[in-house]
Amino acid sequence: MARHSQHLKPESWLVAAGRTIEAGAPLNVPPIPASNFLIGQGRSYARNDATPTWEAVEEIVGGLEGGRAVAFASGMAAIAAVFDQLPAGAQVVLPDDCYQGVTGLAMAGEARGRWSVRRLALTDTEGWQQACAVADLVWLESPSNPLLVVADLPAICAAPRKPGTIVAVDNTFATSLNQQPLEFGATLSIQSATKFIGGHSDLLAGVVTTRDEQLWHDLRRSRELTGATPGAFEAFLAARGARTLALRLERAQHNAMELAQRLSHHPLVSCVRYPGLPTHPTHAIACRVLKGFGTIISFDLRGDATFADAVCRNVSLIRHATSLGAVESTMERRAAIAGQEHLPPTLLRLSVGIEDVDDLWADLDGAIRRAAQ
Ligand SMILES: *Cc1c(COP(=O)(O)O)cnc(C)c1O
Repeated sequence: MARHSQHLKPESWLVAAGRTIEAGAPLNVPPIPASNFLIGQGRSYARNDATPTWEAVEEIVGGLEGGRAVAFASGMAAIAAVFDQLPAGAQVVLPDDCYQGVTGLAMAGEARGRWSVRRLALTDTEGWQQACAVADLVWLESPSNPLLVVADLPAICAAPRKPGTIVAVDNTFATSLNQQPLEFGATLSIQSATKFIGGHSDLLAGVVTTRDEQLWHDLRRSRELTGATPGAFEAFLAARGARTLALRLERAQHNAMELAQRLSHHPLVSCVRYPGLPTHPTHAIACRVLKGFGTIISFDLRGDATFADAVCRNVSLIRHATSLGAVESTMERRAAIAGQEHLPPTLLRLSVGIEDVDDLWADLDGAIRRAAQ
């Protein structure tokens, strides 16, 4: 079952992996909406034994990340399964800029006395290296959400560890094409497949990949016991989305670089955060660590929150919506979200899609100018 991608480039693997190879079988693994299977051939109940549809997704992502994958019902379900591995009283280290769901989960667990949480700036490479030697879970997210800070993952993941320490990387923003945390030495890599792998804003799914066989079994067991299993149709859509991931990413990344440059010359924009810009604080690390700079741009407007909200209401090709990584561009004011009030009040996070870049620019520039009138 565990095929590997060594002999294929990632672009080819995304297209070729996770398919049935028996003569006469359908080219694509179909959505198999089965809870149970006829007894006798190993697989009996989906929650325990998975379905071929989930396994197709696991093969695609696992091969790309260089490990064995476990698919979950959402990114947060995957993340919760990782936290589920922690012993009582564990020490958790989180980035100061971190996906709000992870922060929420970690804080809720701390409030119940399950573990203690420490926050660390992603730029503090030495601090993270020290954390690897003492903490039970070192949780990294790079590039981070929404400030797009790029951590020196190769340096952090190579640091000496306390036995049993899990070094986890949320690879959602980078995708497995731009960054392979397991290659750097991370214990596991997680992705919200809701974002780039699905790529069409029409599913929720998550995947964890690891080279640690015991951890792989434990994560499967956690999925089984908590019932955090993916739906058949979601898994089918995730595999289908993965086929075009490389093309979508290439186009959207190209658009993002162009828009980031144009935004940085805009008179009503005060700051553009995009790892591909030489002005970005962690641009040098990004050049060394990432194969591409991604499709997310965060930028601040000159003005107040009311102005930024008006810009969001004025875009039309770009959808005023949360989430990211889809074919369509989406944008939102992050400080408007509960729990995100610490962010700059006019910071807009733009997830750049695959539309024509001049159409995107006309929409964005027009929206800013109309809001300023
Ligand atoms: C969306 C997201 C998640 C959570 O994934 P869901 O599929 O929404 O549960 C985790 N981390 C990052 C960086 C995300 O963008």
